[in-house]
Amino acid sequence: MAQLLSPRFAFNPTHPFKPSVSEIQRELIDLVRSKLDSGEYQLHPTTCPCGADRDDVLLSEIDRYGLPFKSVLCLSCGTVRIDPYLDENNLVDFYTHIYRRMYGMDIEEGTYDSYFARQRSYAEKILATVSDTLPEGGWVCEVGCGGGGALKIIQERGYNVAGCDYDSSAMAFGKQNGVANLFYGSIDAIGSALPDVKFDLIYLHHVFEHLTDPIAFLKQCRDFLSPNGQILVIVPDIYHIDELGHPAAVGNLLMYLHLAHKNNFSIEGVERLAGFAGYSAVKITPDDRLETPWSKSPELWVKLQPDAKAVPPEDVERVGTRYLKYLQRTESLYNLGLCKGQISNKLEALKSPDRVWKKVKKVFTR
Ligand SMILES: [Zn+2]
Repeated sequence: MAQLLSPRFAFNPTHPFKPSVSEIQRELIDLVRSKLDSGEYQLHPTTCPCGADRDDVLLSEIDRYGLPFKSVLCLSCGTVRIDPYLDENNLVDFYTHIYRRMYGMDIEEGTYDSYFARQRSYAEKILATVSDTLPEGGWVCEVGCGGGGALKIIQERGYNVAGCDYDSSAMAFGKQNGVANLFYGSIDAIGSALPDVKFDLIYLHHVFEHLTDPIAFLKQCRDFLSPNGQILVIVPDIYHIDELGHPAAVGNLLMYLHLAHKNNFSIEGVERLAGFAGYSAVKITPDDRLETPWSKSPELWVKLQPDAKAVPPEDVERVGTRYLKYLQRTESLYNLGLCKGQISNKLEALKSPDRVWKKVKKVFTR
């Protein structure tokens, strides 16, 4: 069933949506488009990880880069996913050659320090949130650790650490900076290198939403957890986009829809897929005074614990219908500039009249 949130979510072949991006980003967006057109990138239908396989609502025919990736909402759980999606081979090509530069996230020479600082900020937040349940000197693992800047802090606090990532150049920098046990690949790579280690904490900071098969991943993690071990998952939260966010993204769902994020989860969606993988899931609320560059946008923090008796919560109420209404209402408010976050951003801007005046002048000198 198609229910595009508003006309701007439609694919328009004669007037395609063009985001304002750098020239390099533009080239890579065009490269993805040409790979889709030539058939090198193949799209395949997928189902929601919550297990429901019907009643999806088509919300958007494009992603934030104007590429023709469709986003659908699962009426059972409210998770929004890209569907159809690329296959594994295409994804390896995308992540190895395109992703970072297309997203404007290339780590340039000389910028590692600020990159590390950003990673440090989320390590502090994670430790403040879960360290009371971590044994002294316990083992901590980060899946998708990039340059290992977060693990470095955790290591300095006396824990043993290990991390894995597909970005070998970022990890090389982490190794040079004394971060222990960084391995290329998935969590399997850590298992092969450290076969006797069991982790007290495995965390994924803005990584879980990239996974094509989150249930298979969670099942795999069971082998790596200590008896009281837990998994911490931190993902974007599209169900609070009206409240906060960067000026371009607040209230603007389109900014959250893009190829790398296979799933934009609802808490109910995570609870159900965790149940299928043999975990219980609890939403947690970290101290919001601890800021990170990511926490300027809404985040969902969920703690997962292996639970032999876990069963996926039943689909008693169509939570997806409630979420659909949220997204429709937010889109209407966004177009009027009246989302809560848009109003507070404007009020913030009014505190510096010089900046507002500069913008006004720009408008009249166009
Ligand atoms: Zn679902």
